[in-house]
Amino acid sequence: CKNYKPTGPIETTLCDYETVESVTEELYSNLSELVRLPFFKYFQVDLYRDCPFWNEYGSCMDPGCAITTVDESDVPEKWRSTTLSKLESSSIGKRHELPGCYYRDSDFCFLDDHTEGDYFDLSLVPERFTGYSGPGAHRIWRSIYEENCFGLSELNLMAGNSPAPVSLPDSMSEVFSGEGKGIDHSEHCLEKRVYYKIISGLHASISTHICLEYLNRTTGQWAPNLECFIERVASHPERLQYMYFNTVLLLRAVSRLGPYLSVYDYCSTGTHEDDQETLSRISKVVNIAQNVGRFDETVLFRGENANVLKEEFKTHFRNVSRIMDCVGCDKCRLWGKVQITGLATAMKILFELDEKALDPYSNANLLQRSEVVALMNTLYRFVESLTAVNQFRAMWSAMGPAD
Ligand code: FAD
Repeated sequence: CKNYKPTGPIETTLCDYETVESVTEELYSNLSELVRLPFFKYFQVDLYRDCPFWNEYGSCMDPGCAITTVDESDVPEKWRSTTLSKLESSSIGKRHELPGCYYRDSDFCFLDDHTEGDYFDLSLVPERFTGYSGPGAHRIWRSIYEENCFGLSELNLMAGNSPAPVSLPDSMSEVFSGEGKGIDHSEHCLEKRVYYKIISGLHASISTHICLEYLNRTTGQWAPNLECFIERVASHPERLQYMYFNTVLLLRAVSRLGPYLSVYDYCSTGTHEDDQETLSRISKVVNIAQNVGRFDETVLFRGENANVLKEEFKTHFRNVSRIMDCVGCDKCRLWGKVQITGLATAMKILFELDEKALDPYSNANLLQRSEVVALMNTLYRFVESLTAVNQFRAMWSAMGPAD
């Protein structure tokens, strides 16, 4: 286990690790300011929808899991649920309704219809150690990997740690009974490998945040925990690589959405400075994204069964968005929902929308406000993780000659 630093091309992208590293600091400084601005910090979501897949979930009683809502009167009027629910959203694809949420044919996740839900100030809720763990958390990850990841999973490594998930097909249950064998992904098609990278990269990024802001329960001190990072991320080089992969994928989506983002109406609290700063930060991020977001989405979903595969891909990811309702920790559920929505928005932009659809003048209501907020906050989470990786590398080097 070395102080590993990936170099060269990032697999399945047209970008390399060094290029991403060269812009991480600038991205971080712009995104960290952007997500503090009113438009990007308020996120409306229904956090308390029933888990649709199993009856109970272990609710996290740790105070670290709790969050507070923002009173709707503190949120600018044009974003309140009453106003938003009157807005006609994108007309791309047929709309499929469920109580409180819906998806269109083009969507990769379920979206709230704004009839229920609360506002949260994301800038007040850092993604960090909450104490949520054990069988409840493992059941979520297991359901995501084993039932919604085309069977690609490393979770055989945790055999014996958790209860068997509900409705797991027999063929998959066998995975849990074996010794840890590692997974050979080479036999799987490009699309399935991309899907796995997205999920595993998200998991690695969440773990990185947990280890960066870790609570030592004995001393009560918050501090980066290098051992935690080595164990969960760095000792699995591919997990580290997938965080870069997700960053490039999100940057490509932001780059394609550039014209839409540059004329988007961010008018928010009424302060002219905030609006100006939002536009200026967005334009800097889009600029970087146009140089670095080199991902060729046209090579995916091309083969004979492309449409079937894409539908399967969407169905799995939509399921993952519903599994978020089963996460037994409010803070983790909030960030889980934000990031699944952000990644789903990126995939919709890349795999569903052509230049005509992305035209801001002919399709002004292309995205819900929550999708734009989620996309930029998710990109920020990944860039923050890459920044944390550098911090952990420095801590590791300071310990001695590890490389
Ligand atoms: P887990 O992270 O639970 O992983 C379980 C198993 O999955 C591992 O044993 C390994 O076999 C496999 N695995 C781990 N990482 C990867 C990867 N990157 N790719 C592929 N396989 C992998 N906890 C917090 O403290 N704060 C949070 O904000 C938070 N947010 C969460 C959000 C969601 C959506 C979920 C499901 C959980 C969240 N948790 C959070 C819990 C956290 O992710 C862990 O489950 C918990 O810390 C227990 O960690 P663990 O070491 O047992 O392994």
